[in-house]
Amino acid sequence: MNQTKYILYWMQAAQRSSCNAALNKAIALANEGQLPLLIVFCLDDQVPDATRRHYHFMLEGLYELAQSLDRESLKLYLAICQATTLIPRLAQEAAALVTDRGYLRWQREARQQIYLEIGDLPYYEVETEPVIPILKASSKEEYAAATIRPKLCKLLSEHLIWPKREKLQISVSVDSHLQDMAKFGSFRELWIWVLERTQVEPDPGPVQSFRGGYSQAIKHLDSFISLNLERYHLKRGDPSLGIESGLSPYLHFGQISALEVTLRVLDQSGIPAAQLPGMIRNKADWEGLPAAVAAFCEELIIRRELSFNFCYHNPDYDSYLCLPAWARASLEKHEPDKRPLHYSLDRLVAAATNDVYWNAAQREMLETGKMHNYMRMYWGKKVLEWAPDPETAYYWLLWMNNRFELDGRDPNGYAGLAWCFGKHDRPWVERPIFGSIRYMNAAGLKRKFDMEAYVAKWMKNS
Ligand SMILES: Cc1cc2nc3c(=O)[nH]c(=O)nc-3n(C[C@H](O)[C@H](O)[C@H](O)COP(=O)(O)OP(=O)(O)OC[C@H]3O[C@@H](n4cnc5c(N)ncnc54)[C@H](O)[C@@H]3O)c2cc1C
Repeated sequence: MNQTKYILYWMQAAQRSSCNAALNKAIALANEGQLPLLIVFCLDDQVPDATRRHYHFMLEGLYELAQSLDRESLKLYLAICQATTLIPRLAQEAAALVTDRGYLRWQREARQQIYLEIGDLPYYEVETEPVIPILKASSKEEYAAATIRPKLCKLLSEHLIWPKREKLQISVSVDSHLQDMAKFGSFRELWIWVLERTQVEPDPGPVQSFRGGYSQAIKHLDSFISLNLERYHLKRGDPSLGIESGLSPYLHFGQISALEVTLRVLDQSGIPAAQLPGMIRNKADWEGLPAAVAAFCEELIIRRELSFNFCYHNPDYDSYLCLPAWARASLEKHEPDKRPLHYSLDRLVAAATNDVYWNAAQREMLETGKMHNYMRMYWGKKVLEWAPDPETAYYWLLWMNNRFELDGRDPNGYAGLAWCFGKHDRPWVERPIFGSIRYMNAAGLKRKFDMEAYVAKWMKNS
């Protein structure tokens, strides 16, 4: 075996320094072995459905990360290639390989392939993205939020702790073919360098509305906590207010961790993290917690981890086949039902339907890369009504969601879309086209929210 030169940390899902248990583990191993640490990010321009919009946001985050790691004498190296090609090669001179964990098929396959190629080298895959490790919460696919919630709540106390970080003792000096990201004079320089060397799908392009990076995530979080958290449980659904945290793109790229978000929300709400589990009187509905904090934790921890659970345990998570049998049977029964309107995928993409609420939501997504949560549900349900058949509707939605949403290609996206078709839900009153799938219509939106304000905001240039 070659002489070991470093601890190798392959950064993929957790693209951050703060609250990153995988990075912490890599530093601890480097200190223990008195070895340098080599941190590598592999930029693969062929990741399924990723476009320039996603790469731009991701690289903004990585650029900022490289600068902040540099201040701690840690170097972030960028390589333009598939991790499966480079990491086993770098591993030949490593004493151990550390990485984070991903839940989607391409992420798991890459890790599996690398694991098999590195032979006996110690391999640490550290779970960084959920608050509670997925398999610890449940060893099977959960039926719904109601079944996973008590399991997650029971484990909260052990996991609501800031992960410890040691100071790296030996800085790295490394092969010249890897690009030290901190050496780029500006983000623009890095972006041009990357575009010259990749074939990233150009459309859709970057958005102005969200800038990538940990500091931006913290800005969103601070403003959410000070301005909107208090009324989150009452007004989150109202698309005209848009009081959500705006954190999903940052969570998707691992630029901030859900654990850090939870700890900061608890801290700012005057709830000591250690006391949170004891405060929850009824795990079925978070009874005992302030309603706003409970509502936010429900989304950030329960719903999000239900999505991880879904993608981890269901091999069909990105296919129509993932739907429960009752939902598919009911949709099939109603497939011959006459659709009142038909739209092509092109017309949907162009936000050119006769439904002004739907068009506004589509515009919000096209322009900002992030559609409001409540409108995402309506958006999905309407396409089920307008597409030639449910299966086509499913794949059209998945394609648009993954391509245009900054937070697309995420377990939450697969679970959210499947939810529109009955997953993690129950049968409702049977009706045409939808069968027993939960129905939503424009009248409901109009009754509950100031839809004219929402439409005015997103259709102003039409
Ligand atoms: C059809 C459809 C498609 C969706 N596609 C995506 C997607 O591609 N990526 C994505 O991250 N989310 C998706 N969601 C879930 C949800 O709409 C977004 O997570 C939410 O709108 C993100 O905005 P926010 O961060 O401001 O939310 P906040 O309300 O501030 O919530 C904070 C965090 O909690 C989690 N969360 C909130 N709502 C949900 C939910 N319903 N399910 C799971 N986790 C949730 C997210 O991580 C979110 O960032 C989809 C939902 C539907 C119905």
